[in-house]
Amino acid sequence: MNLGLIGNPVEKSVSPELQRILFKELKLNNCVYEKHEVVSDNLSTFFDRFKRGEFDGINVTIPHKEAGVAFLDELDKNVEILGNTNCIKRIGNTLKGYNTDLYGFKMLLERNSINVESTHCLVLGAGGSARTVIQALIHKGAESITIKNKSTDNALEIQLYAKKLGVKNINLYTESNGEFDIVINTTPLGMYHEKDDSGFFDIPVDKKTTLIDLIYTSNHTLFLNQYKDQAKQSINGLEMLIFQAIKSIEIWTETTYNVDQKLDSIKKQLEKVLC
Ligand code: NAP
Repeated sequence: MNLGLIGNPVEKSVSPELQRILFKELKLNNCVYEKHEVVSDNLSTFFDRFKRGEFDGINVTIPHKEAGVAFLDELDKNVEILGNTNCIKRIGNTLKGYNTDLYGFKMLLERNSINVESTHCLVLGAGGSARTVIQALIHKGAESITIKNKSTDNALEIQLYAKKLGVKNINLYTESNGEFDIVINTTPLGMYHEKDDSGFFDIPVDKKTTLIDLIYTSNHTLFLNQYKDQAKQSINGLEMLIFQAIKSIEIWTETTYNVDQKLDSIKKQLEKVLC
């Protein structure tokens, strides 16, 4: 199968290495996965090539996750809700879009025994992955969701999105908000070793708080490090990354895989790529 990743930039993406590790572990000897840097002006040409059969499946990353939806013939129900896609399968000359980040985040919750039911959650950020996280929190029965974001416009927009999904208790963050059971950082802040000069990560955290950072490049991300030893649990985005990739393979190959016995080996190999 001819598979790949499109985005701009894709230079630093570890998806090809991750997919190659998974192909090896799952004994998928006939899969090839390459990254393709595609500027927005060339998106249409790329999708023409895809539809004509040059690729069997594609992962989509920033900035094409929303724009990619316009080229799809069929949308999985999660893509309809989220308005973005990160995994596309070609069936003949038609393209069907999925969002596997949602599955990846739910698996992260499950594998770390994080019970969202009736909890008060704080989501840092209001971009594409914040939407995915909010949808998962709703599915899992969160009592309230609060948004903290740099720009108020995007915070208001995502609040509206959550209201449309039927959430009543969705608020914008203020310093008097009180305590949270679960805090999820969905921003890239700290990914490239920048500092938190504006105090964006200054939030109430105590021994009852579970912290999740979607950044997967380190176990000690800027956000998780700020609250070292102060929180109940601190989890980075590595398992989400692995499980969204596994789900993509399952969609492309129309096969389900049990990776329980292989996960430690997959993680170790990926951590070597990341360090
Ligand atoms: P996005 O759609 O571009 O949204 C980025 C969000 O982060 C926006 O709300 C933006 O605020 C905020 N932001 C950007 N720079 C910031 C800064 N310096 N300080 C505070 N807020 C900042 O991106 P995305 O697709 O949601 O991805 C965000 C992060 O999640 C990336 O690091 C990505 O690698 C990670 N991610 C991980 C996984 C995984 O599998 N682990 C999956 C998906 C994404 P404004 O609205 O004010 O611009």
